[in-house]
Amino acid sequence: MSRTATAEAAARAEASAGAAARTGRSAERPLAELGAAAARQAARRRPIRDLKLPEGRKIAVNFTLDFDAMLLRRLLEEPWGQKAKGEFGGRVGIWRILDMFDAEDVKVTLFTPGRICELYPDALHRAVAAGHELADHMWQHEVPEDPATEAAHLSRAVAALEAIAGSKITGTRSSHSPALLRENGIVYNSFTSATYRPFVEYDAQGANPILQLPFHYALDDAMYFSFGWLDTPNAAQRIMDVDEVFEIWWAAFEQQYRTGGYVNFLLHPFVSGHAMRVDMLQRLIQRMKTLPGVWFPTCATLADHILTTHSLDAAEA
Ligand SMILES: [Zn+2]
Repeated sequence: MSRTATAEAAARAEASAGAAARTGRSAERPLAELGAAAARQAARRRPIRDLKLPEGRKIAVNFTLDFDAMLLRRLLEEPWGQKAKGEFGGRVGIWRILDMFDAEDVKVTLFTPGRICELYPDALHRAVAAGHELADHMWQHEVPEDPATEAAHLSRAVAALEAIAGSKITGTRSSHSPALLRENGIVYNSFTSATYRPFVEYDAQGANPILQLPFHYALDDAMYFSFGWLDTPNAAQRIMDVDEVFEIWWAAFEQQYRTGGYVNFLLHPFVSGHAMRVDMLQRLIQRMKTLPGVWFPTCATLADHILTTHSLDAAEA
């Protein structure tokens, strides 16, 4: 550690000791608060203990595309270089990825903001024609605080997606309120890393159960291949070798395969749509297929399968 760093660490320790002395707070209260929060979350999140995959299947693998084309960042008027990355996802990346999934006959779920239906309708029609699923990812990639605006955003997003899908939208990746999601016919969400198997999540009042299909950041392409990720400093940038990521993802898959489980890969077309990354994904899928019993459903197909034996309404009662 350099002298400056040592001095900085000492100054930080002194400042935090000073703050504790001023507030008179010991560790007891924060720990009690953490304990209470953990108990509340445990009560809201109930595992599905007897979850069974269809006959002959050892693992369910969801490939999920967050087809947001960096919408929020483009709305935030970030520099043109950032906006161009999102545009690449909408004009090029999504087409490449879908071509690859079609070549492998793997159906995927596209979590799509409503506004993308206006920006890239051709890509969405192409996805639907190939049998992929469209699911909600907020109207413009944000959940408004005002409840009436939030409700308007969700119903507009669902209507826009249903118009293209030609069928009901049943899933979301968002922090919309569970009651609002259920009112709009949404039965599953894929918006947590709280655990690694599908589970039922209740709202704070113990109502409005929804099936959660958890993802993990270790299986999120943006964690490996991101430059300029949401205001991160230069030291946090990473553009990893695709072969290294292949090995990490294969190990994650294999661990769940051995234990009979679930994985949910979170891919962004503006990130994974680059040629060498699409190739890496294709190699990964081809290697998964060498093992027996690997199931590649869309999130909606998996949710349907789970909910035939674990009805949410029964869960509420
Ligand atoms: Zn997103």
